[in-house]
Amino acid sequence: MEIRNNSDVPSDIKNQEEKSPHERFRDSKSLSVTDFSSLAWCELQQHYFFIAGGRKETLAMKIGSEIHNKLELQEHDIISIPTHTKEDIWGIKLYNLIFGIDSLFINLKTRELPIFGFVSGLFVFGIIDQIEMKPVFDDISRDELVISDTKTRTKQYIPKYVPPSVKFQLMLYKKLFDELVQGTFDEMKIFQTLDLNPDLEFSKELANIVNISYKEKEMKEFKPNLRNLMKVVINSFGKVWKSCNILEVNYKFQKDGSDLGSKYFDYDENQLDNYLEKTVKYWKGDRKPEGVPIEDAWKCQNCEFADNCEWRLNKIKEREQNKRALLEITNGQSKLRLN
Ligand code: SF4
Repeated sequence: MEIRNNSDVPSDIKNQEEKSPHERFRDSKSLSVTDFSSLAWCELQQHYFFIAGGRKETLAMKIGSEIHNKLELQEHDIISIPTHTKEDIWGIKLYNLIFGIDSLFINLKTRELPIFGFVSGLFVFGIIDQIEMKPVFDDISRDELVISDTKTRTKQYIPKYVPPSVKFQLMLYKKLFDELVQGTFDEMKIFQTLDLNPDLEFSKELANIVNISYKEKEMKEFKPNLRNLMKVVINSFGKVWKSCNILEVNYKFQKDGSDLGSKYFDYDENQLDNYLEKTVKYWKGDRKPEGVPIEDAWKCQNCEFADNCEWRLNKIKEREQNKRALLEITNGQSKLRLN
C-alpha cells in the first residue's frame, strides 16, 4: 500500500489519475457515506487526503469516537469476535443491522445502525449514529423515526448553522434508509459488487451466534451465510416505515460529553440529488476534483496542502494576470479635454 505524508502533494497527480477515484482509492468496491459528504468542504482537499492515504487521526477525532462508543454502550453491549473471511465481515454488518432494527422496536431507539444501497450504480455503506421514534416538535400526537448524527464540539454552545457536509451526510443516510424500507434493492448485485460468496458459511464464531439468533426463528434449513442473513434483513425492513423529513444534528461538549442541544433541518431531495450527481462524476472519474470558489478562499488559510495546491496557485496567477491587464488598460488611457 502506498503511504504518504498528508502534506505531500505529488507533482505528478495528473499522470496517476488514469484510474477513476473509485478504482484508485476504493478498489471499485464500497464507498462510504462520508466519501460523498466530505467533498462538500473542498473536493480537491479531500482528493489530496485520499492520495495521502486518509486523514491523520486528531485528538478531537479520538475524543469524538470515545464519546460515540460511550453512547452506544448505554444502549447495548458489544462483543468482539474474530473474522476469517470477507463474508464474515459483511455478515457482522448485516447481523448488526438486524439487531439495530430489533432494538428500534424494543427500545424505540437504536444507535450505530449500518445501512447501504446504490447511488448511480456505486455501492455506498454508512452507519447512522441514531434513529429514535419520537414526536416531531409540537406534533405530540405523531411519532416519527428521526435520524440524527452526533457531533462533538470544543466550544460549549451549538453552532449557528449546520455545515453542508453534515447536511449531505444526514440526507444520504435518510435516502439509503428509506430505500431499504421500500425493499427495492438487488441483493445479488451487492454480492457481485463486493465480490462476496453469498453461500459461503460463516466461520465458527459468527455461525454460532447467527444460528442461535435465527435458525429457530427463521427456518429449519437455515445455513449461516450472507444469502440467508440478507433474507432476514429484507424481512426486518419490511416491518419499518420511512424516516422523518426532519433531520437532527445533536451536539456534545468534547470536554465531558454533556449534551449541548440539537439543530434540525429539512430533507431536500432536489438538493441532495444535484449534489450526488456532481459527486458521482468525481468518483467515476468523469471530471477532475475542484478547489474552492473564490468566495471560500478563506478555507485555504488552514489547508495543509495550500503551498502546493494547483487550484489555489492557478487562481493566484489568474488574479495577478487580471491585475496586470487592468493596469495596462488604465495606463494607456488619457484624460480627455474639450478643445
Ligand atoms: S488550498 Fe484551498 S483549494 Fe486547495 S485544496 Fe486546500 S482548501 Fe482546497
